[in-house]
Amino acid sequence: MIRRLNPVAIACVVVLAVLPALVGPYGVTLLSYIGMSALAALGLVLLTGVGGLTSFGQAAFVGIGAYATAWLTTAAGGSPWLGLVLGLVLAGSVALVLGAATLRLSGHLLPLSTIAWGLAFYFLFGNLDVLGRHNGISAIPPVGLGGFSFQSAMASYYLVWTMTGGAFLLAANLLGSRQGRAIRSLRGGTAMAESLGIDTFRVRLAAFVVCALCAALSGWLFAHVQRVISPTAFDIGPGIEYLFMAMLGGAGHIGGAVLGAALVTLARDALQDYLPLFGPGAGQAEVVVFSVLFILVLQTARGGIIPAVARRLPRRPPPIPPAAPPLPRRTPPAPGTMLLEMEGLERRFGGLLAVSDVSFSLRAGEILGLIGPNGAGKSTIFNLLAGSLRPSAGRVRLLGRDITGLPARRIAALGLARTFQHVRLRPSMTLLDNVMLGAHLRGHAGLLRGALALDAAEERRIRAEAMRQLCRVGLGDAPYELAGNLPLGRQRVLEVARALAADPLLIVLDEPAAGLRRLEKMALAELLRALRQEGMTILLVEHDMDFVMGLVDRIVVLDFGVKLAEGLPADIRADARVQEAYLGGVA
Ligand code: ADP
Ligand code: MG
Repeated sequence: MIRRLNPVAIACVVVLAVLPALVGPYGVTLLSYIGMSALAALGLVLLTGVGGLTSFGQAAFVGIGAYATAWLTTAAGGSPWLGLVLGLVLAGSVALVLGAATLRLSGHLLPLSTIAWGLAFYFLFGNLDVLGRHNGISAIPPVGLGGFSFQSAMASYYLVWTMTGGAFLLAANLLGSRQGRAIRSLRGGTAMAESLGIDTFRVRLAAFVVCALCAALSGWLFAHVQRVISPTAFDIGPGIEYLFMAMLGGAGHIGGAVLGAALVTLARDALQDYLPLFGPGAGQAEVVVFSVLFILVLQTARGGIIPAVARRLPRRPPPIPPAAPPLPRRTPPAPGTMLLEMEGLERRFGGLLAVSDVSFSLRAGEILGLIGPNGAGKSTIFNLLAGSLRPSAGRVRLLGRDITGLPARRIAALGLARTFQHVRLRPSMTLLDNVMLGAHLRGHAGLLRGALALDAAEERRIRAEAMRQLCRVGLGDAPYELAGNLPLGRQRVLEVARALAADPLLIVLDEPAAGLRRLEKMALAELLRALRQEGMTILLVEHDMDFVMGLVDRIVVLDFGVKLAEGLPADIRADARVQEAYLGGVA
């Protein structure tokens, strides 16, 4: 159930266990509210902080969880535990439907849509007779377990924090798992994640559902602790407050949810005590105070408190991952087998013909260089091959199979791995995690297995494989360094390691040597030769002529989107048209 014993987490459990004895009955109640808010904020840490999808509508899901159990236990006389199941199922289903309808929206449209449905649910709760309209539902029974009733403030406290603690444990496990890495990869565009075989829409949907489930659990507790509910608690205002809690504490950190919930709850409590002293009506100023705080946080510590503090603490990196049984590998095709064929490839961007009637092919075990001046269409061809772009005309075949127009993640699954001309890494993830992302398709653990930490054996193997690839490209000495801290040239090499972690049949490298120093270039060339030796097929775009000439078996020259020449490096060097178009005086 537990990935690794975290001393901070253990300290939290001890503090939470003894705290009620120290703070008095009012404090205990306040702490229960902190726990319930932390649960809703936890969902947003996963969705917004980690996954990068902003939702203002979290309170609506809290409301679904609360109303489901309130209705079931009062009108229908069911058990609160049945109410919990109903709330989770309802919230999960609503999230699935809403997510399917809205998660493809881009930019500001997605957060805007969350405001829309957040409001819609508020009005729904307030206008349904069966939910008591604006008066809500009262006389909700407390939760019972084997004859014990969680009725007192103290009992409620332990119920809340047991549930909240459990949810935090599952969330921590999830974030450390294969699917958690996929959620972490969502931030900053989907092209990279899709090229690694990650179905980003499904991952977004999963994060959205998990976020809603956290909210529904919070709502269930809310209904049975408070024993009366009304729509105002599930309005868009509280929804924004949950988001504020997550951002304040540190949106990328699950601990941030607790810290943010504690700070906001305590601040609100203090404001309610002191604001009335400033005269009648001053109590309304709460909103203003929170708005000012919100702006202050955005200005001073955008990542939230926990990351800002953590940066200043000494970091003790975990040990280098130990070796583990290797992951299964693909059988590479026999050398010389026709691997990749392009036939009459064409791509238009509006009026611009970026690639025009280009045909060439690669056989297993060769390194082919694709060269040509800037803007010749090299990267476009890569994107057509890898499924990031659809060709306007022409076909692409991989091992005889037509892959034209397949989505990038399907092509990745067939054995093509790529790097990008403009490096696409997750700068805030470690080198190791970035490379482990590359091995996504070689693992199978789903959300549940990850959350229950039942994926340990597979994770060990993926981690060991990532470590092996890091060492192979010469980045093995600091696997826990953040990718964003590497110089650009080495980030390119990290992308190569990530591509290798996929165990591909073919790797497609877009200017891998750009920004490397001479010795690093030589090491990269050595690595590519070694890969060819092992049966890997490599397609390479490169500007550095010496690098290409000494390394590749064949060259295709591209100019203005058209194939100009194809042949052995020596012939290309001697070709008059190529010299004129591209090499100029170099040859
Ligand atoms: P290379 O990689 O050989 O330098 P590219 O394939 O990046 O060249 O670009 C080929 C041509 O296509 C260029 O003229 C470029 O401006 C254009 N181009 C590339 N991508 C796009 C795009 N997404 N939209 C419009 N034009 C593009
Ligand atoms: Mg390019």
